[in-house]
Amino acid sequence: MMLKIGITGGIGSGKTTVCKVFELLGIPVFYADTVAKSIMHTDPVLKQEILKTFGEKSYFSDGELNRPYISSIVFNNESELTKLNALVHPAVFRAFDAWLAKHSDAPYIIKEAALLFETESYKMCDLSVLVISPEASRIRRVIARDGISTEEILLRMDRQFSDEQKIKLADHILINDESRLLIPQILTLHEQFLKIGT
Ligand code: ATP
Repeated sequence: MMLKIGITGGIGSGKTTVCKVFELLGIPVFYADTVAKSIMHTDPVLKQEILKTFGEKSYFSDGELNRPYISSIVFNNESELTKLNALVHPAVFRAFDAWLAKHSDAPYIIKEAALLFETESYKMCDLSVLVISPEASRIRRVIARDGISTEEILLRMDRQFSDEQKIKLADHILINDESRLLIPQILTLHEQFLKIGT
């Protein structure tokens, strides 16, 4: 059985940066959040379910997702967001299974997901890695990357488990602060995963 590693971390913690290093080491990475966005355009089953649940306005006449409309429905509406997630999450799992089948020759694979613990998808991984970074660094980095406000970043942080909650669930922790080098920590984990995976 293929060794599956779940990598997560709060907004701006550096999980994508970490995954890019694993990719350089030849490890395939499934970016669940990116896939979740793209399959709303591409998965015909999911499209039909979204149309049925949120109405004809969910897609433009050319088949493109009407993202502003969907966002306006789920924004600040917990029950509508839950409904959307209940459709999207199984579709992401389907996409992951199909992706997994194409990488059966890898020593191990990584699934990167911002809400790995919150959505319980860590239970489908063999091991989990949590990237942690001080809140001030995360805010500074996300402002530099996305140009969004501190308030918006804090709102997004509120929707995620705290690091304290996630530390209890994680098998491995990568510390992405100013005082520690990230790449040696990644290499140490890579060596361990290679040993377990082969
Ligand atoms: P999100 O959940 O918002 O997608 P993330 O956890 O995937 O964020 P990254 O995109 O990897 O975080 O990192 C956020 C930003 O901080 C990026 O612009 C990245 O280049 C930068 N960054 C991450 N780690 C470091 C580091 N150790 N030194 C300098 N810049 C860093």
